Amino acid sequence: MTNLKPVDVAIIGGGWTGLLMAKEITASTSKSVAVFERGIPRKMEDYAVTMDELDHNIRLRMMQNTAEETITHRHSLKDSAVPVRQHGSFHPGTGVGGAGEHWGGASFRFQPDCFRLRSHLTEKHGAAKLSADLSVQDWPISYDELEPLYWKSEQLMGISGKAGNLRGEKIDGGNPFEGSRQHEYPTPPLKHSYASSLFADAVRRMGYHPYRTPAANLSEPYKNPDGITRPGCAYCGHCQRYGCMIGAKAQPTNTLMPVLAKRKNFELRTGSWVRRIIHKDGRATGIQFTNASGEEFFQPAGTVVLASFTLNNTRLLSLSKIGTPYDPVTRKGTLGRNLTHQVGVNTRIFFDKPLNIFMGAGELASRISDFDGDNGFTGAEDGLLRLGMIALGTNGDTPIGSFGVMPKGASKSNWGSEWKAASIKWRDHSAAIGMSGEHLAYRQNYMDLDPTYTDKFGDPLLRFTLNWTDHEYKMREFALKIQANIAREMGAKFDEGPPSRAPYNVINYQSTHIQGGVVMGASPENSVVNKYLQHWDMPNLFVVGASAFPQNAAPNPTLTSLSLTYMAADGMINRYFKHPEKLI
Ligand SMILES: Cc1cc2nc3c(=O)[nH]c(=O)nc-3n(C[C@H](O)[C@H](O)[C@H](O)COP(=O)(O)OP(=O)(O)OC[C@H]3O[C@@H](n4cnc5c(N)ncnc54)[C@H](O)[C@@H]3O)c2cc1C
Ligand code: SF4
Repeated sequence: MTNLKPVDVAIIGGGWTGLLMAKEITASTSKSVAVFERGIPRKMEDYAVTMDELDHNIRLRMMQNTAEETITHRHSLKDSAVPVRQHGSFHPGTGVGGAGEHWGGASFRFQPDCFRLRSHLTEKHGAAKLSADLSVQDWPISYDELEPLYWKSEQLMGISGKAGNLRGEKIDGGNPFEGSRQHEYPTPPLKHSYASSLFADAVRRMGYHPYRTPAANLSEPYKNPDGITRPGCAYCGHCQRYGCMIGAKAQPTNTLMPVLAKRKNFELRTGSWVRRIIHKDGRATGIQFTNASGEEFFQPAGTVVLASFTLNNTRLLSLSKIGTPYDPVTRKGTLGRNLTHQVGVNTRIFFDKPLNIFMGAGELASRISDFDGDNGFTGAEDGLLRLGMIALGTNGDTPIGSFGVMPKGASKSNWGSEWKAASIKWRDHSAAIGMSGEHLAYRQNYMDLDPTYTDKFGDPLLRFTLNWTDHEYKMREFALKIQANIAREMGAKFDEGPPSRAPYNVINYQSTHIQGGVVMGASPENSVVNKYLQHWDMPNLFVVGASAFPQNAAPNPTLTSLSLTYMAADGMINRYFKHPEKLI
């Protein structure tokens, strides 16, 4: 192993959170910052020549290679976990920019009650009514504390949207259920697609409150506070799972890298696979990594930031033996607990007219939050604690992926000339109404190291023990009824039927919203990091990303991850560097 020249700060992972941390530190200190990213370098010009659906959308060119590292999954403690050999329920990214290059761009704030979920549910239902397995907890920060940082993140990316609650005033056309905002969105909402306008008209007639999804796909040219200018979206429909070839979608490579590239105290080392955080006497001393040629290095560092997404944040801490692994039986230990994903259910709707659905943007959607959190239902009569948002999105139906979508019974067989004729008939005549629902944390859902399977280096893989509970099935049943009513109001055909009560599966895509494992909290008894995302046991180690979320919320996570990263950077720069000890 080769010892390298020390750096002040070593950051593991070159996605949104790692690069934002680097931008903040290099902006206001002279500390040397090196980002270690195991994937390839990227730039916008690459995307113009690689817009290929088969390559990106089907073969998932931009995702982590499962032959090198994957996760294993089991449903419960009594099962054996097996490796996920093809990406299914979520799509972790790799390379500079991480999944932030090929994300959709939905950029919501969480509702204020999400940050005090345990208190909220207890006040509403009484502690006795909450399942003993429920493991949700309050965040160590409030919505009001995070509000200015949400605004900073929105300005960074130029989020397109319309306020629904501006300094307490409810505004039609925005989301009236959002927490109070101090500012209007940096850019106006994206245009409606035909299908999203049909949804908006229908739900409005039903008394709901439609709004257009706040999106990192710019509705018009925008210059952010760092002086980075990006153009408006061209609605090309090749957005999620692709990088944007014109830079209209905020991505780390077009928003953070142009700033970082000019900083003399910044360095990006791609092809650097970090395998351990090295530590001694309660402090990180640096990181151990292997480069693309298989050579091993020790990089000494004064401070280490772990920003390698939920999966590797948990795994690298486990491999490095930092913190106490969680035990779901005794509920002792904190590392790996409160693994959550996202709860979804879709209703496919069909029209006799074409929808031009091939046009769209990563997050061009019309949406209601009338059932987000526990809006719109009491919970008493239906056994539901939380639900989520309901939307019709048009992010671009591409030729291969959308071919063969038809109502049940439209073809007797799923191949041959009859099927082809039906596929052509129904092409561009279909959309989906879907729920993005809150996944609560439970005692039994957690992450640890797999005892059997290893990655390409022989290091243990991360193991998911994860399954749905009755609550998630009830959420889907409830959402499906609302979705059916909306479909009827839209005048669409749709396939009715109960949602599947099948256990969690790793095959069907849910979302790449994986949370927990390194959760933040008010004390080391129930969390791994404090509100500055500083490790409770190791003051010079900060762990950023959605791994810190105590539980999932219905909205997509990245805006909240970025806002927490700003908070961590502030704690590190303005407090920790001046007095390098525990911040709390
Ligand atoms: C198809 C898709 C659509 C999405 N749409 C949305 C959306 O609309 N809205 C939203 O909020 N979110 C969305 N997401 C999720 C969003 O992309 C993530 O929340 C966000 O990118 C996470 O940023 P991060 O920096 O925490 O992690 P990542 O982006 O995953 O970056 C982590 C980086 O760390 C690197 N890394 C990992 N392990 C190591 C190691 N051992 N050594 C060195 N480097 C390592 C990885 O290669 C990666 O580049 C979407 C994701 C996908 C895949
Ligand atoms: S839909 Fe818009 S933001 Fe998305 S890739 Fe195309 S031009 Fe870029």
